[in-house]
Amino acid sequence: MGSATRIAVLRERASGETRVSATPETVRKLIGLGASVAVEAGAGLHASIADADYLAAGAAVSPLARVLDGANIVLGIQAPDPALLDGAASGAWVVAAMDPFAQPSRVEAYAAAGLEALAMELMPRITRAQSMDILSSQSNLSGYKAVLVAANLYGRAFPMMMTAAGTVSAAKAFVMGVGVAGLQAIATARRLGAQVSATDVRSATREQIQSLGAKPIFVENVRGIEGEGAGGYAGEMSEDYRRAQAELVSAHLARQDIVITTALIPARVAPRLISDAQIATMKPGSVIFDLAAPQGGNVEGCVADEVVERHGVKIAGFSNTPAHLPAEASALFARNLFNFVSAFWDKEQGKPVLDDEIGAAIRLTRDGRVVHPRLLG
Ligand code: NAD
Repeated sequence: MGSATRIAVLRERASGETRVSATPETVRKLIGLGASVAVEAGAGLHASIADADYLAAGAAVSPLARVLDGANIVLGIQAPDPALLDGAASGAWVVAAMDPFAQPSRVEAYAAAGLEALAMELMPRITRAQSMDILSSQSNLSGYKAVLVAANLYGRAFPMMMTAAGTVSAAKAFVMGVGVAGLQAIATARRLGAQVSATDVRSATREQIQSLGAKPIFVENVRGIEGEGAGGYAGEMSEDYRRAQAELVSAHLARQDIVITTALIPARVAPRLISDAQIATMKPGSVIFDLAAPQGGNVEGCVADEVVERHGVKIAGFSNTPAHLPAEASALFARNLFNFVSAFWDKEQGKPVLDDEIGAAIRLTRDGRVVHPRLLG
């Protein structure tokens, strides 16, 4: 038996990042597997986790160099700068969201450093990997937060209220893109009392929208994506579809108070769903929250982390929505990472060993080379 697998938890350095990749709960569980865990001092501060909490869970808490010394697995929320990782063991795993297609030179640097970079956002959408899916866990919270922010920017109420001074009518909310974030946005807007409608290009979402008590708004004359779409993901739509969608949505948008957009296409800029001309038809005082802001935005004129006003309509979006719920987003992300390490834990070897299916999907670098097929293209 060699020495225990050493797991390093780094303090996030990206601007605006508030999350942390392990919590006291997951530290305990990782130690339970037989690993040792070292947490960089101050790593949990923005997520309301004190160094003392990590110590109490059994981790060592130290400055970066000590934390990395001989580390076999480095955990992060966003991919750490490879230049920081001197001191990690040769061949160490770096497990985080890697944004590999936008950051190819960082991937090269992991290869050059002899590290094995594992991109958690490329986890395949198969049943056994659901508990390791960072996109789902973070999108769910983002959908919730988007509605709360929109409600806060809105100068009126969401629920219908009958008061002695008269009746307040319910807000009309429209959710565009009904994946994980969109479903949670529908549920949240409903809980707040809005009248909710929603649309998507994937026909499987129609029933999901109805089952949450919202009204589906669908292009009828041009075919969208049958069923779930490949792996639950949408693709680029035809010119005909986009024209039909724009027409349908224009008429509907003009009557909405709150619009939440969530539409994404993997490895592409987000599709444009709302133009400035359409915003001009909306009622003054309406609010649009664009969850796709970090991927280029669904809404014309959206500027991440600002509230832009166009034609009396407020347009908002965050560059990192989960970072606005640091404690909960960290708790779920950290569990995704623990579930991943634990699912592949090999008791005999005292370390995780990836299988071919998931390994091929998420492994970017190995043995000094970039190995992911989509990066070799
Ligand atoms: P996503 O974040 O990639 O996209 C958000 C939504 O935008 C999707 O529903 C997509 O169809 C929609 N969209 C794209 N282009 C659009 C357009 N032009 N107009 C309107 N809508 C558009 O999607 P997601 O939230 O990651 O999830 C999509 C699906 O995958 C869901 O059905 C989810 O349940 C499924 N899923 C399955 C697993 C699993 O089985 N392990 C894990 C996660 C998600």
